[in-house]
Amino acid sequence: MKYITTPIYYVNDKPHIGHAYTTLVADIVARTHVLSGEEVFFLAGTDEHGTKIAQAAEKAGKQPQEFTDEIAASFKEAWQNLGIEYNHFIRTTDTDHKKTAQAFLSKLKENDALYEDEYEGLYCNGCETFLHEKDLIDGKCSDHKKEPEVVKEKNWFFKLSEYVEQVKEKIKTDEIIIRPEKFKKEVLSALEQGVPDFSVSRPNVEWGIPLPWDSKQTMYVWVDALINYFSATGWENDLEGPKWPADVHVVGKDIIKFHAIYWPALLLAAGFDIPKSILVNGFFTIDGQKMSKSLGNVIDPNELVDAYGVDGARYLIVSQFPFGQDGDIAQSKFDEKYNADLANGIGNLVQRVSTLIEKFELEKSLEINEEKGDFVSEIWQHFNVFEIFEGITKIQKKIQDTDELLAKEKPWEKEKAEDVKDILQTSAQNIYEIGKALQPIIPETATQILKRFTKGEIIKGEGLFPRK
Ligand SMILES: [Zn+2]
Repeated sequence: MKYITTPIYYVNDKPHIGHAYTTLVADIVARTHVLSGEEVFFLAGTDEHGTKIAQAAEKAGKQPQEFTDEIAASFKEAWQNLGIEYNHFIRTTDTDHKKTAQAFLSKLKENDALYEDEYEGLYCNGCETFLHEKDLIDGKCSDHKKEPEVVKEKNWFFKLSEYVEQVKEKIKTDEIIIRPEKFKKEVLSALEQGVPDFSVSRPNVEWGIPLPWDSKQTMYVWVDALINYFSATGWENDLEGPKWPADVHVVGKDIIKFHAIYWPALLLAAGFDIPKSILVNGFFTIDGQKMSKSLGNVIDPNELVDAYGVDGARYLIVSQFPFGQDGDIAQSKFDEKYNADLANGIGNLVQRVSTLIEKFELEKSLEINEEKGDFVSEIWQHFNVFEIFEGITKIQKKIQDTDELLAKEKPWEKEKAEDVKDILQTSAQNIYEIGKALQPIIPETATQILKRFTKGEIIKGEGLFPRK
């Protein structure tokens, strides 16, 4: 069983290409495991509590539940449009999640990992996090450019300091694998500098999960959110839930501290297993600029599906740069890339070769080896370790190589079937392997390709990717 999670997205806004990128990458990895015959539990979801959500709901003139219902539905719809096949979609407002989160907190209390204290300090509502003077630039939150609120309140605190050494050791020895490597170093150096205890509850936050022993306090949204990965496994029904621990948490680099430090520490304190790995992806810009509403460059994944089809959109989103790095999404070059890689690339190759096979009446006499083979294994090996871009690059190389082979041999200038049989045999086999390798990325089209290039009979069909 492979248990793969995406971040659960905060429902203060609709899904955009950033959410889509991370979720698609996880979908591709999950699909690769499924295609390799492994059992997979792939979790997606939404993070729905906290002041920021309550405020967004109020601004929209809605009750928080009604508001979150709508946004959660828009995430589900976007994932469906993109062909993302999660096994479960968790919402932190689910009754089961609330119950598990409360049981988790009770465990922490039982294990003496919590204490009550007065907190006086700074809180950024945008980040939903307590800030320290050293986090501020000109007295403001560096992300939100806003002065944090000064709060003085009674909170329940988690004794993070008691677990720091254990977490550090587990990261050092790769008991929790953090990749890319640079993020492992970053987390270790943060731990080296010391991380203060943090509060697991707040008073005066109505839209949240109440603490089971103190109903005036609601759970700190980050703690509530992190527990989703655990509650989704059905822990409330089975204390030794067979799905836990997660094999992979896919996260953005802005939330690494919560996943790599807070989360393992909370699990250790509650007496549960820790996740096996955390895969971190970078930030990206759109045509060299930061994505922002005011610039009007926020890309809606649904619009991409309308423009390029499900598979076209999937391909364009994940083929831009390697996972884990900061990169640029070249929206202005979407048409160009779609035409080059899909319409003129794999689409044209399939059409060209099947047309020649029909012309020389070789439909039934070519032999396709449908074994997985070295090429597909190599590509899927890349996908298994989140090297989506690297895998795609090698697939594109094989498409080009096959095109070049055809250009060199010029089967269209030949007259007899026996003179073209070898080259068409090789090309057809390459197309089959390319189609198979592409299954996790462009599932619908890849299935089409595999149906057309089968052992029994090769079939010419409609164009796969109409040109833009
Ligand atoms: Zn902030």
